[in-house]
Amino acid sequence: MPEYTQQLLRSLPKVDEWMHKLAPRFAVPLLLIKQVVRDEVERERQAILSAPDEAKIHSEGEWAARFAKSLRRKSQPRFRPVINATGVVIHTNLGRSPLADDAAATLAEAGKRYSNLEFNLATGKRGSRYSHIEDILLDLTGAEAALVVNNNAAAVLLALDSLAKGREVIVSRGQLVEIGGSFRIPEVMAKSGAKLVEVGSTNRTHVQDYQQAIGQETALLLKVHTSNFRVIGFTAEVGAADLADLAKNNGLLTMEDLGSGSLIDLSRYGLPREPTVREVVTAGIDVVCFSGDKLLGGPQAGIIVGKEKVIEQIKKNPLNRALRIDKLTLASLEATLRHYYQLEDALENIPTLAMLTEDGLAVKKRAVRLLRKLRPAIGDRCRAAIIPALSRVGGGAMPEYSLPSFAVTFELTATSGTPGAISPNRLEQDFRALATPIIGRIEHDRFLLDLRTVREDEIALLARQIADYFREWP
Ligand SMILES: *Cc1c(COP(=O)(O)O)cnc(C)c1O
Repeated sequence: MPEYTQQLLRSLPKVDEWMHKLAPRFAVPLLLIKQVVRDEVERERQAILSAPDEAKIHSEGEWAARFAKSLRRKSQPRFRPVINATGVVIHTNLGRSPLADDAAATLAEAGKRYSNLEFNLATGKRGSRYSHIEDILLDLTGAEAALVVNNNAAAVLLALDSLAKGREVIVSRGQLVEIGGSFRIPEVMAKSGAKLVEVGSTNRTHVQDYQQAIGQETALLLKVHTSNFRVIGFTAEVGAADLADLAKNNGLLTMEDLGSGSLIDLSRYGLPREPTVREVVTAGIDVVCFSGDKLLGGPQAGIIVGKEKVIEQIKKNPLNRALRIDKLTLASLEATLRHYYQLEDALENIPTLAMLTEDGLAVKKRAVRLLRKLRPAIGDRCRAAIIPALSRVGGGAMPEYSLPSFAVTFELTATSGTPGAISPNRLEQDFRALATPIIGRIEHDRFLLDLRTVREDEIALLARQIADYFREWP
């Protein structure tokens, strides 16, 4: 090993020495300090070994700053709230649906206290965790029975495993969808032990296609919502009622994976028409499943509703125990669902629905309020402007539809004395690194904050962070 490399390695800080130096300055557990010092020293050792020519001996002050930065990062919670200014309402990477206030409160209460989760208060005996929301689901969908599991992927897996294991399931080639996170219908079917029988073509599938594929081994006719894509042009698919009729005439079951699954018809608010869960149930489909945290606006969950005999069979499947819903989710799902007894209540209090149906001008007013707070703080350093924008539904729902919205953009002014404009990538990155990260989007070479997905009660925090940022920039 060259002498210079050895010298560099000898110059590395001693872990114990630094632990004692840092401990009085930082109110964090000693173990955390030790880990940070070790990690940083080890990182530097690797850097020296791999490229000694680029390494140098750091001063005591440089190491102190490096440890302090790393300690601050490590003692912050890793899982944190962010401000969603992407304009994507059901943003899977940002946690899909924010909960209604009372749903979040119920969740906290269920977490802190004992509950009647599986205890029947009337008999004093063991109860069922599903009983709490089954009645509500029946009221809201018109189904005969219901259960809930961990998520909709689990619901599909469980239903297929219960009803079609080792047998054939017929599905249209136009509906073999892959949604994000590697959920592919053919693969989920393979896992469940059901055999996939594809019928029709990508763009057109007819009743006769299903009819001709029915055989001795057929258990189920499956319909899958295409969620995140649309087949347009010369297309045909078989409706739920026709599929249910065909199945009934052949002694088979039907299932529909609705994906997002809405309990209300959002076309009344200008959004695309989607069949509601109740409509699919009424059409005669035996098992209908959908997500809790997409258009429904609740916590992550998979909801299965349908005919009593079929749901009973699913409830008895031992796999159900492995996919079961936890008490926190159950509590917040019940609170979310209760809002649906009254349409106005749901639209006002379930954030996902409120954001999807909010008038563009109301979004603009929020943008104006943000600017009003920002202007005095950022002065003439930077020019903030409001521009029209298009928000998305997200969550794989209504992929071709955009919601008219408004966004705020930033531009450095000439008087700021800073040469060159701030690049959109730099802004995007810096905003992501704020104490409460602000997640925006880049469009036409501009960084923008879409106000549709920003709550009114986040405006003050948003403004304060942006003002502080520009005050210190560059
Ligand atoms: C989103 C979706 C799923 C998976 O739902 P999760 O709740 O995310 O597990 C399954 N099928 C379709 C059609 C979907 O759109």
